[in-house]
Amino acid sequence: MTNPADLTLAQLRDALKAKKVSSLEATDAYLARIEKAKVLNTFVTVTADKARDMAKASDARLAKGPNNSDVGDLEGVPLGVKDLFCTEGVLTTAGSHILDGFQPRYESTVTANLWRDGAVMLGKLNMDEFAMGSSNETSYYGNVINPWRREGDDAPLTPGGSSGGSSASVAARLCAGATATDTGGSIRQPASLTNTVGVKPTYGRVSRWGVVAFASSLDQAGPMAQDVRDAAVMLKSMAGHDPKDSTSIDRAVPDYEAALGQSIKGLKIGVPKEYRIDGMPEEIENLWSQGIAWMKDAGCEIVDISLPLTKYALPVYYIVAPAEASSNLARYDGVKYGHRASDYQDILSMYENTRAEGFGDEVKRRILIGTYVLSAGYYDAYYLRAQKVRKKIFDEFTDAFSKVDLILTPSAPSAAFGLGEKTSDPVQMYLNDVFTVTGNLAGLPGASVPAGYDKQGLPLGLQLLARPFDEETMFKGMYALEQAAGANRRPQEWWA
Ligand code: GLN
Repeated sequence: MTNPADLTLAQLRDALKAKKVSSLEATDAYLARIEKAKVLNTFVTVTADKARDMAKASDARLAKGPNNSDVGDLEGVPLGVKDLFCTEGVLTTAGSHILDGFQPRYESTVTANLWRDGAVMLGKLNMDEFAMGSSNETSYYGNVINPWRREGDDAPLTPGGSSGGSSASVAARLCAGATATDTGGSIRQPASLTNTVGVKPTYGRVSRWGVVAFASSLDQAGPMAQDVRDAAVMLKSMAGHDPKDSTSIDRAVPDYEAALGQSIKGLKIGVPKEYRIDGMPEEIENLWSQGIAWMKDAGCEIVDISLPLTKYALPVYYIVAPAEASSNLARYDGVKYGHRASDYQDILSMYENTRAEGFGDEVKRRILIGTYVLSAGYYDAYYLRAQKVRKKIFDEFTDAFSKVDLILTPSAPSAAFGLGEKTSDPVQMYLNDVFTVTGNLAGLPGASVPAGYDKQGLPLGLQLLARPFDEETMFKGMYALEQAAGANRRPQEWWA
């Protein structure tokens, strides 16, 4: 048969259950690909021995027959894990020097759920340091290279960020699917730049326990997948109530795969005029119009909506997220985790030198901003005011969702850009998330679906946002969009 690493996750799952391929064969096929794709720098750690052991255990369970109760929904399927998820006994870096040598004694709930369902861990994926970034260029482990290139141009491009290792490895088929996290857009923006499907679930749908915290009121984990079906299968396994995360919600997890292909006739699709921003490439405008036309053709009613507070979303995000980050990152002091400076006189200089050496520039910038906006004299002017605007943004969405079922927007304001192109101007980098941060501030589910290509052949995604906990309607819409767009090209394997 074909190389098992060429199958989608759902196809591989079915082939494994039908015994057309073994998990060990699939795992070895992926490990061989990872070996050949080192130039993409997608993995921080490859756990080859662990992967083979897990694959053998899966094959033993599959030998009992596909309907045996020991066989899980993802039995034998090899996955990559963003290096923000704690994995027991396996180096977990969050893309930072300060976590050097950190081997958690526990497993994150998300990864534990995936292993419970039989998935196999191939390794830990590169990412922006502490998930701060939109291009994967803040990683201590170096940037990731997007498998996609402009036509006739070898210039290396970003796979987006912060989940750049996840997006690039799924696009290059170095794993059947990957975990990722999204605090301001880090699942949806990289998905858009790599022709993959990324889903940020409703805040509280997926447990944050064991996920290294960036901004706790915004962080949410989700899948990075080859297509909409794969994302549905993965999210089902990742989601669910967890008593270890007090913000996780006790609601039944629907079978998202069952929603695929259901008619979207009569659904109301909101199109917010404020997302038509100055300087947006014409190709993205056109793609958005095309997306609206596809939804109309599928029988949806298109509703023009207004979300006037959209312009405050990025400023609010860049107060709230750094504030929470400055608090969360206080724990990295050279005592409890990872790196400790070797040169110091007393405990204070040990803390100072450790943090000066261990954190990169972008992380330091966030800690400085966050500490500033929380300080006694500025708390009311910045942090408190930002929280109030955040509540108003939530109210604005609640109002919009009383009129529409889904909101359709572009996922990102541009296609993949060149490495180094935006590193000198942090605001330019922050603008990447202009369409996605709103969903985090309001806690809404959002997803990016491959929808087309720009003139240079680079992928572009469209975003769907849904009501809290209505991922099912979102998946119906995503599937319809995917079917209409048929944007299923693969990058050329120039690296192999
Ligand atoms: N790019 C945004 C930031 O740098 C969002 C990152 C994320 O979603 N983790 O904060």
